[in-house]
Amino acid sequence: MKKVAFYTLGCKLNFSETSTIARGFEEKGYQKVGFSETPDIFIINTCSVTENADKKCKKIVKEAQKINPNGYVTIIGCYAQLKPKEISEIPGVDAVLGAAEKFRLLELLDGFVKPESTQVLASEIKEAKSFNNAYSINDRTRTFLKVQDGCNYHCAFCTIPLARGKSRSDTIENIINSAEEISKTDVKEVVLTGVNIGDFGIVDGKREERFIDLVKAIDKVKRIDRIRISSIEPNLLTNEVIEYVSESERFVPHFHIPLQSGNNKILRAMRRRYLRELYEDRVNKIKQLMPNCCIGVDVIVGFPGETQDDFLDTYNFLNELNISYLHVFTYSERANTTAAEMDNAVPLKTRQERSKMLRILSEKKRRQFYASQLGKTKTVLFEDDVDNGMMHGFTENYVRVSAKYDPMLVNELKTLTLADINENGTVSVEEPSPVFETHE
Ligand code: SF4
Repeated sequence: MKKVAFYTLGCKLNFSETSTIARGFEEKGYQKVGFSETPDIFIINTCSVTENADKKCKKIVKEAQKINPNGYVTIIGCYAQLKPKEISEIPGVDAVLGAAEKFRLLELLDGFVKPESTQVLASEIKEAKSFNNAYSINDRTRTFLKVQDGCNYHCAFCTIPLARGKSRSDTIENIINSAEEISKTDVKEVVLTGVNIGDFGIVDGKREERFIDLVKAIDKVKRIDRIRISSIEPNLLTNEVIEYVSESERFVPHFHIPLQSGNNKILRAMRRRYLRELYEDRVNKIKQLMPNCCIGVDVIVGFPGETQDDFLDTYNFLNELNISYLHVFTYSERANTTAAEMDNAVPLKTRQERSKMLRILSEKKRRQFYASQLGKTKTVLFEDDVDNGMMHGFTENYVRVSAKYDPMLVNELKTLTLADINENGTVSVEEPSPVFETHE
């Protein structure tokens, strides 16, 4: 029995896809092992958004070669689609598969016999037309369920459409089937995952269904306790979706909404499809219906042409806004994007300073949000991680909680009262007694 190991870089979508590809291997009789357990085959699922994607990829390949010099090394994922030739020149790589080929890996690389020279099977991105469904079951607690792939937007800084192709989705019927399968496992939380999830519903180039219909349909699947929407563009987060989530028992009060800039001039230059006023409106609508909702924000600093005043516009906008945390990205030039050709690049040092300011703001916002939740009774889903005798979990509204490790609590939903903010930024719970009521 051949042994296969996987390494995943990047986003939830990549994790869901690795997991599905791995199940395909297991079905064919391969044994899935850890990266260090001398596998015969290494599959490395790469990301193009990751800083220094090339260096990371080289490092992992080197590591694989050290573990098993005769191992067969395959590279898939966004970086493989964008730079197949570059990757094929990394010593030790046996095969590079593009977006249209990665799900046919077992069939295309039949037998995994080390070739004389690296095999590159990466069609142009326009060939990536079909939707391959995927979900992760890596840990028992939550699963990332892929419902949509690709993107038809053309944000000036983004390479994802070049790496993943056009927007396309699974059908609601298929997604419900996957959700039913997941509901038979121990998993308590499903995270709906995609590149541009609000654009859900395009099948074979035609809009067939809407995101709100998916939301309503999956909400009816029994035995899934929690459903989380991973990240959604503000212009696609409709009142209908917000209102439905606010009344749902399963959809949790947590949204992650990319803003990217709080300055309208920069938003236009980025080719985003909204202005800051719309973003503010979305946040206000959410908070009006769900005062305890957690709202995460993606923001990019140092986009070409961003002056100090533009940046301060973003800073002040976010400071005033009722949001809970930020994911801060320092802008970096990406090949084949329009932003990379723009004038007025912001000096690297300035980009880093701005990034630091927003990271500090993020911590302040998170703390304020956590403080607003103290004394409230929430449901915590505990994960299987132990750190200095403590375990962690998240409430429905994404407060990170820590409690004394108790194996009986792993993957259990517990109703607890949030007590205090710890030094490490997590939240303690009142009397974390090992005897809790069981969630049905
Ligand atoms: S919406 Fe914009 S940033 Fe997001 S994947 Fe599409 S092009 Fe990229």
